[in-house]
Order: sequence, then C-alpha cells, then structure tokens
Amino acid sequence: MSRWTLAYEGFDPSEEPLREALCTLGNGYFATRGAAPEAAAGDVHYPGTYVAGLYNRLITEVAGREIMNEDLVNVPNWLHLRFRTDDGAWFAVQDAKIDDYRQELDIRKGVLIRTFVFTDTEGRSTRVAQRRFVHMGNSHVAGLQTTFEPTNWSGKMYVESGIDGRVINAGVARYRKLNSRHLDPVKAGISDGAMYLDVETTQSRVRVAMAARTVVRLNGEEVEAHCTETEEPGFVAQTLEFGVTEGIPTTVDKTVTLFTSRDHAISAPGRAARAWIWRLGSFDELLESNTLAWDLLWRRFSLDTGAADFEAMVLNLHSFHLMQTVSKHTIDLDVGVPARGWHGEAYRGHIFWDELFVFPYLNLHLPDLTRALLLYRFRRLPEARWSAKAAGLEGALYPWQSGSTGREESQVVHLNPQSGRWLQDNSYLQRHVNIAIAYNTWQYYQTTADVDFLAHGGAEMMIEISRLMASLATYNRAIDRYEILKVMGPDEYHDAYPDADEPGLNNNAYTNVMAAWVLARTIEALDLLPDFRRNELMDKLHIQREELTRWDEISRKLRVAFHDDGIISQFEGYGDLAEFDWIGYGERYGDIQRLDRILEAEGDSPNRYKLSKQADVLMLFYLLSADELKSIFERLGYEIDGDTIQRNIDYYDQRTSHGSTLSRIVNAWVLARSHRERSWEFFKGALLSDVTDIQGGTTPEGIHLGAMAGTVDLVQRGFTGIETREDTLWLDPAIPDELGELRFEIRYRGHVLDFHITPDQLSVTTHPSEAQPIRVGIRDRVIEVPAGTTETVPL
Ligand code: BGC
Repeated sequence: MSRWTLAYEGFDPSEEPLREALCTLGNGYFATRGAAPEAAAGDVHYPGTYVAGLYNRLITEVAGREIMNEDLVNVPNWLHLRFRTDDGAWFAVQDAKIDDYRQELDIRKGVLIRTFVFTDTEGRSTRVAQRRFVHMGNSHVAGLQTTFEPTNWSGKMYVESGIDGRVINAGVARYRKLNSRHLDPVKAGISDGAMYLDVETTQSRVRVAMAARTVVRLNGEEVEAHCTETEEPGFVAQTLEFGVTEGIPTTVDKTVTLFTSRDHAISAPGRAARAWIWRLGSFDELLESNTLAWDLLWRRFSLDTGAADFEAMVLNLHSFHLMQTVSKHTIDLDVGVPARGWHGEAYRGHIFWDELFVFPYLNLHLPDLTRALLLYRFRRLPEARWSAKAAGLEGALYPWQSGSTGREESQVVHLNPQSGRWLQDNSYLQRHVNIAIAYNTWQYYQTTADVDFLAHGGAEMMIEISRLMASLATYNRAIDRYEILKVMGPDEYHDAYPDADEPGLNNNAYTNVMAAWVLARTIEALDLLPDFRRNELMDKLHIQREELTRWDEISRKLRVAFHDDGIISQFEGYGDLAEFDWIGYGERYGDIQRLDRILEAEGDSPNRYKLSKQADVLMLFYLLSADELKSIFERLGYEIDGDTIQRNIDYYDQRTSHGSTLSRIVNAWVLARSHRERSWEFFKGALLSDVTDIQGGTTPEGIHLGAMAGTVDLVQRGFTGIETREDTLWLDPAIPDELGELRFEIRYRGHVLDFHITPDQLSVTTHPSEAQPIRVGIRDRVIEVPAGTTETVPL
C-alpha cells in the first residue's frame, strides 16, 4: 500500500457509488465524480459534475404542500465516452467480460487511472487504460485519455465521445420524489471538429457552457479518424472510427473546457469555452501542468507523519478532497464551504456550520482562502439582517443551511427512510451557526492579524451576530440570569421537550457559553480597530455605549444549567430525561448511529432520552482551550476545573451515538490528553468515516468535508496543541505513539514556519522574510522568534 494511492482491484457494482465519490476529481471551481466514462446515471453509476456554488430552485408538491428546494446542480456530463470493438456492442462494465480491473487514484498528482482487459463476444481482447484529471492549474479544464491495445486482434474501433446535458439531479434516492430537472438545453453543435454544448439552469438562469475536442493518436501523432456527428437537444457527440493493430497502443485524448455566465473575464461562457478549447496544449502537456499545480499545493499542505501507510494515505486523501473542494480558484468565487464537498448531491450542496471544522486548518495554510470564504458570509449579511427582522430579532440571523442568497434553505420536512414518513424538520433552530461564523472570524484574525479584514467586514459580522445573541437572550428576574429559549444545539436528536407542542429547547449550554464568548470577543474586536474605523462603524451601525454595556452584562449572566453535581446540562432539563438502553438497542439493531430514525420508526423519539447524535457540550472543550474555558465560565459566575471538565467528557462520551461524522473528531480531540487510547480509537473511526462509508450509504452521496478536514486538523493542531490566542502561537504536543513524529509547514502572521516534532523535541524554523518577530509559546515557555531562524526545544 502506498501513502499516495487509493487503489481498488476488480469491479464491484455495489461498491461503485462509494468509489465514485472518493475518486472525485476537482479544483475548487468544479468537480466530477469518479464515474466510468461510458456509464449513464443509474443504480450503479452516477456521473455527476458540479460547479462550486451553482444552485437552482425547484418547487415540488409533497404531502399536500408545496415545498421549494435549492439544489446544487448536476451540470452536463463531459466524461461521456463509450467504445466498441468492430461490430460488437458498446462496452458496459457490468455486462462485459473483464479481467485485471483496477482503479487507482493518484492522490499526489490528482489523476484517476483505470485499467482492464476487455474481451468481446467474438473473443477479441483489448487492454484499456484511462487517465483523467480536472486541472488544478487551469480551473476551466479537464481531460480524459483512453488507450486501446488489442492483444489478439487487429481491426476497427469505434469511440463515441460526447457532452451529455440531458442529466437531472438523481444522486440521492431520498430526494427522487422531488422535482429534479434543473437544466434547459440552449444549444449544441460541432464546429471545426470541436463539440460544444450550452445549457441554462431553469430558475437561477446560469448559463453553463462546455466544449470538447477528441483526437486519436498513434505514437503521439494525431491520426485521421472517420467521424459521425450526433446533435440533439441537450446532447452532442462524435463517433470516431479508426483502425487498431494487435500489440500497438492507440490513444484517444479528450480535452474539455467549462465556463459559466458567473465567470470573470469572459464575455459569454460559450465563447470562452469554444475559444479556449483550441488554446489548450495536448492531453500529456495538460497532465504535466496539472501535476505541477498539485506539487505546489502539496508543498503547503503536506503533513508527514510516522503513521502506518493506511492512516497516512487516508490523511493525504482527506487533504486532497479538501483542496479539491476549496482551492485558490475558490478565492474569486462567491461560495461557501459545502458540508459534503462538490462530490455529490447530499444536503443539496448547502453550507452549514461545518466550516468550523475547516477554517482553523485553512487559516494556517492558505489564509487568503479563509478570508474569501468568510466573505461568502459577509455578502449575505443583508439577507441575515432581513431574516433577523422577519423573526422579530435584532442583528443578523444566518441560516442553518445556506445556498445562493443566504436565506434559510433547511428543508421544511424530511423523509425518514426507515419509516417512510415525512417529518417536520426543526433543524433551522440551530442558531449556533451564527456563533460559528463569529468564532471563525475571530480565529482568522488571531492567525493572520489581518485588522483590515476585521475593519471592513469581520467586525461588522461579529457585531450583528452579537446583536442577535443579545436579542435572543431574555432576562429571568427570578434567577437574575439571561436565558436563550427554544433553540437547538448541535445535537440534532433533540429538537423539543418530550411531548411538547412546540419545538426548541431552553438554555443549550453550548449556545449560551459561546454566546457569552462571542459578546466578549466582539467588544475586544471593536477595541482593536483603528479609531477612525471604530467610529465609522459605531455611527453606521448606530451602536451606543449602552448597547456595549448590555452585551457585557449578558456575557456575564447567561444561564448554564447543571445536573448530577457539576455535569453541564446539554440544555435545561436534560438531567430529567430517561437513560437510554444503549446495550439493548446495540444488540437489536447493530448499527445505532441514526437513533433518530430508529426511534421514530418505533413510534418513540430521542427527545425522551439522555442521548446525543453528536458532541454538543463537548464542543466547548473542542473550541476553547482550558484557559479560555475557565475564564469564560468565571465571567459567567460558574466554576469549572480540570476535574469537572474530565467528568463532563466522560459523561457525554458515554451518551453519544456519533450519528454525525463531525462527532468523532471532537471526542478524539477532547480525549487526546487524558485517554490516549480512546482518543486514537475515535481518530481512527473518523479516518474511516468516508473510506469505508461508516454510515452505510452516505458517502456515495458526497464526502464529509468537516470530518476530512477535521482529521488532518486534529493531527496538526489537536495533537500538537497549536492555538492562536493572545497574539501568541501556542504549542503543547501530545502526539500519539502511532503517529511517531510530525513534519509540516504552516503560515502564521506573515511567516512560513516549518515544524518538526519528535517525542523528545520540537524544532521550528521560520523562513527568511520581512515579517515581524512572533511569539511562540511552548507549554509554559514563550520565546520571541524572528524570521530566518531555527529554535529547538526539548519536550
Ligand atoms: C450534522 C450537522 C452537520 C450536517 C452537515 C448533520 O448530520 O448533524 O452538525 O452540520 O450534518 O454536515
């Protein structure tokens, strides 16, 4: 096994949907699933291509009501390429006689390779090798190369290469009852031997244009092929007929361009696609420049560990999919971080709070990218203000699920496949998504010292989110505390009190503590701004001193409920819920990650039990350092010490089903220093989330980006104890023995730093630059580190 290869031997129809998702190639602008090029969408294959942030709305009638969904659009399938030997049938992998089938993702170079030997009904055997890329250097380009080498015959080969715009969104079985035709055909044709196809989304009216050239080569030289053309609405293809000779490889190179009407520096997408298709180099040249682009990226993002090959490969795969979802090509786009990558249609490509698991990692590698992704939120501040107003609140209310406009895109009803029932979806009550945005803004600032961003966007978002928090808080005179009522915490299995008529829970500890933290940090952020800008903002946003005083007061008086002598109640009343029969359910159902579906199908509800889908209280220990935690609890007038923290970790660790892949990251993180073995188990579980499709069917619909970034971040920040606070880069390594030593590069406040951490020592080298010296705190020792030096500290 190699650390840079995800390899599969043999074709297995039941595995294919998972492989397609994991072998997706992308570049932050668009992504294409690792589907067989000859295959059309069906139960086995699903050749989806998605452009970052390209959504379309459709209305469907469900259970007597009209519901509107905004979906990430499956755009035309540029892969389409099928072949046949002489007068045989078109090759279809699941019906054909194939040998030596192998599929391999080259993680370092961003190339998907597929090889096999195919024998037709006449006994003619042909060795087939395919390579493809979605170009990481030129975001509008992709390529697919197919090489045919007859092993026992010579004769004619037919290849149909096309662009198929007749596609619909059909990647998620649960959504199949919903309307799914998002594309109108606009035009298709072939000019000078290059195909082109333009389509337009039915509601958002985004034009998507592709062009493709397919050439046949022998020994690198282009050879003539007889060509038949097919043009129909939404589809264009060329069928090439050429001779092949036993033992001699003949290559068919397909290069593709893709533009949309949202792109910069073009007049019309169709023109751009058709102009650039002629300007590209050959497939081999493009492959080489793609490798170079990946090489440059890996210099920034590689994480060398002494882990076993499998773990190292999965970590590389996770970084790879992160870079394919958000890259430097994303910086100029107006898109957020999709929970499931651009790898499938799960959650409709929507943006949740998952960026909380992605940004801290990006901050240390490509901070410009975090800035750009935060701007996705900033541009939607007016919409969030509007939502707050509509809900009778102040400030800005960001949605739980966000798409094109930033309005709430959470579904109103969702289907429980286990019971077949459509259920009310209350997940929009997760107001804590706002906290994630403020937290990310602050962390970005802490890592980069980018006051300019705070001054021109960041602080404004934090202010409006603080206003929201303050307006959500109601004063309870009886206890002299502020309360946040009727919300949901990160644990989605609890959305109401048992038998309550209305959804929502009171005083979710995560929300309340983090709201206090956000209020305190916002006051700090205002102080950091240059005077003139602070004054401008105070005037523009009508901030009076009294408002800041009120925030300060709320940040000291938000209520946190406790039970069982020091256990932080996930929400008020949690302690009164029934204990859940973990063992009994485990025995009955085996996999009990999705207890919501199991219990609902039984006519019961998770709301009755002390059980969580995912880390909720423990999120506090994940996001805040022990010092920060102590100080925020003190500010709130509660005491929390190391012992209590540990008891809380153990308590919730025993009551969580990890129905979200984000959850294991948090548990691995918070247990890293006290229960190393258990932490490692969670870490390994998190690594398996997607490669083994731990939830049994969700990964084929899209990877779990938060868990992917979270695992790499766990190694890099969690196990090293890296924190950026108080203008200092802190480290406190507790590296699991299984990881041995670590080497990685990060960016911090204008510096490029190389770390090498072994069990005995930590060394940090700063690259020569003009950047100001930085403070690095290793455990309790703080040192000043100028550019161009190496410091080695024993551990
Ligand atoms: C989790 C959420 C998460 C969402 C998108 C859900 O299953 O409970 O916390 O934001 O998936 O990844």
